[in-house]
Amino acid sequence: MASEGAGAVGPPLGEMDLDEFRRAGHRIVDWIADYRAHPECYPVLSRCRPGEVRAQLPRAAPSEAESIECILNDFERLILPGITHWNHPAFFAYFAITGSGPGILGELLASALNVNAMLWRTSPAATELEECVLDWLREMLGLPADFKGVIADCASTASLLAIAAARDAVAPEIRARGMAGCDGMPKLRLYTSEQAHSSIEKGAMILGIGQENVRKIETDARFRMMPSALVQAIRGDIADGWRPFCVVATVGTTSTTSIDPVAEIAPICRDFGLWLHVDGAYGGMAAIVPEMRHVLDGCQGADSIVINPHKWLFTPLDCSALYVRDPDALQRSFSLVPEYLKSREEDVTNYMDWGPWLGRRFRALKLWMVIRHFGHEGLAARIRRHIELAQDLVQRIDADPDIEALAPAPFSTVCFRFRPSTLKALSGDARRRQACDEYLDRLNEAVLDAVNASGEAFLSHTRIRGRYAVRMAIGNINSDRAEVDRAWRLLRDEASRLDGEMRQEWRSAARIS
Ligand code: PLP
Repeated sequence: MASEGAGAVGPPLGEMDLDEFRRAGHRIVDWIADYRAHPECYPVLSRCRPGEVRAQLPRAAPSEAESIECILNDFERLILPGITHWNHPAFFAYFAITGSGPGILGELLASALNVNAMLWRTSPAATELEECVLDWLREMLGLPADFKGVIADCASTASLLAIAAARDAVAPEIRARGMAGCDGMPKLRLYTSEQAHSSIEKGAMILGIGQENVRKIETDARFRMMPSALVQAIRGDIADGWRPFCVVATVGTTSTTSIDPVAEIAPICRDFGLWLHVDGAYGGMAAIVPEMRHVLDGCQGADSIVINPHKWLFTPLDCSALYVRDPDALQRSFSLVPEYLKSREEDVTNYMDWGPWLGRRFRALKLWMVIRHFGHEGLAARIRRHIELAQDLVQRIDADPDIEALAPAPFSTVCFRFRPSTLKALSGDARRRQACDEYLDRLNEAVLDAVNASGEAFLSHTRIRGRYAVRMAIGNINSDRAEVDRAWRLLRDEASRLDGEMRQEWRSAARIS
């Protein structure tokens, strides 16, 4: 019987052959090195049309095994043309990021180990390295030692966790009974600036706070949350029977990278007993540059803060550092330990208790490798360079009569629009001014489209106080003066060419003589 059973199972089904793995691994590492050496071979923004990649892929999974050789060939043939090259040094869109060498190698090792960093015992090194590198990062940022860190996949998740902890701190019964089951509970209110990232609203939507209960506080001329408006909103809400529970301030907002005055917001939160979360996903990282530490002024008084190594610390996606002053508050929201996950070790961190996840990637490994490879000084020098390049651009913009800065640039992201000086003479009364603004929107959009279509550089846009703004974000580790200058020349050339082509048509259409 036993031998019959063994026979029924069939021959052993092994893993990938190790020699094949070694050969393919070497080929891939060589490919990566070549790719990183010559990113200019590729258009930064993929030229694919919607559906083009999909149309070339088989409709069904292969029933027979295929060789890695064949799969890698298809990677180059089918997948690569559909890639927008975030690692390209002329990638200046959104917030530019970097999968640096040590980070890539860290990812490779983490995939090979494939550990699940859910409990301390499921890989003690994964948990303890996470605690260690987050302490290193906290110290580099100048944050106080009582902040404890956890790595999340992204800032959107990290902020969601912070908002959940804030919510449960004022209404612990929600955990058991849900919002609908809490009789007589006043409606909760969260405050953030009108410039805050959409992830804050999303967090409130997911957590049952409701999008309408996120109050967007007015910003000043530099796009910073106005503390006086915040106090007024909180007082008004309390008087009307709402329950304020959380303020989210931003260090480096997404559109303009403005910095909310956290040092003024923190005492307000303390006075009203509100949780203060700081979204420093992009801008917070600048604080590792000693002379930029001031960007986190006031964050010492926050309850939580998120900063993304995958944005501006040369660490491949995904890696977001959430710091909380009271890890118990997170655990009160998220810890739920079934029998099969119980473990007996004491005084250890079980990161599964800090969020909604169970399975957790060993993200600390790549961050450790990045921090060690570059060192604090090397990391700071690279971020400092990005800031210098952006400030240099600001000076060029300020000196150019045909370009207008649309927001201050405290970091390495610059928002501007082309506004040919010859147009100024045409904008007189309100009707003409509006027509001019509409023309400038169209012109700047066309300039951006032309530059992006060239494949030489990729920039994105935003809208600032109603105006279409070109947004240049310098953040890739290989972006240096040459790439910025080349992109700048391209932008200027396209702006002159397109203004020449579009102006007459606009004047006739808008009946401007
Ligand atoms: N917060 C800010 C200020 C951001 O700019 C962004 C993204 O650009 C996010 C949060 C979301 O980051 P993530 O993609 O890590 O969720």
